[in-house]
Amino acid sequence: MYKTFNDGMIEIITGPMFSGKSEELLKRVRILEYAKLKPLVIKPTFDSRFSNDNIVSRAGIKHATYNVENVSEIYELLKKDKYKAILIDEAHFFDETLVSLADDLANKGYLVIISGLDLNYLRKPFNHMAKLMAMAERVTKLQAICVVCQHAASTSFRKVKSNKLNLLGDANEYEARCRKCHIIGEKEKELSNK
Ligand SMILES: [Zn+2]
Repeated sequence: MYKTFNDGMIEIITGPMFSGKSEELLKRVRILEYAKLKPLVIKPTFDSRFSNDNIVSRAGIKHATYNVENVSEIYELLKKDKYKAILIDEAHFFDETLVSLADDLANKGYLVIISGLDLNYLRKPFNHMAKLMAMAERVTKLQAICVVCQHAASTSFRKVKSNKLNLLGDANEYEARCRKCHIIGEKEKELSNK
């Protein structure tokens, strides 16, 4: 997977919902553990600090994670063990501070692997994800399949009416769509508002 990461590096795994980002991240976790390179796995939370939880992919694969509210907590967690790699899931829920943290940790020699949406439900980039993709040594951009036309899908279409930027949801709230079907869907939503 990696020739070497003695010098530290950033890898981004991105793409729309239902494109298998969490599976891809969990695959990295398995490969690192096999090589006895201890990974620290992080997920955002909004209510509890440092609680143990799991990252679960839609395929049912699991791994224990630390839920953190602010990225600065990652520095505290790193003191707990001899971690070589930091893997962060659902990174679009964090803020701009993730950019400098990822850069700093890679500079310190860590392998930093970050998974998250590149675009919000309006097909606009999450700023920190865009910056991270530019800074990363490696970007893996995944695609799903458009539920409308079955072509490759790069966007997450919100089926429900809500203007909240971070609306947690799954298959009831979102679906993978291609550019064309996303635009058609947004127009349909707009018309049904009138
Ligand atoms: Zn389509």
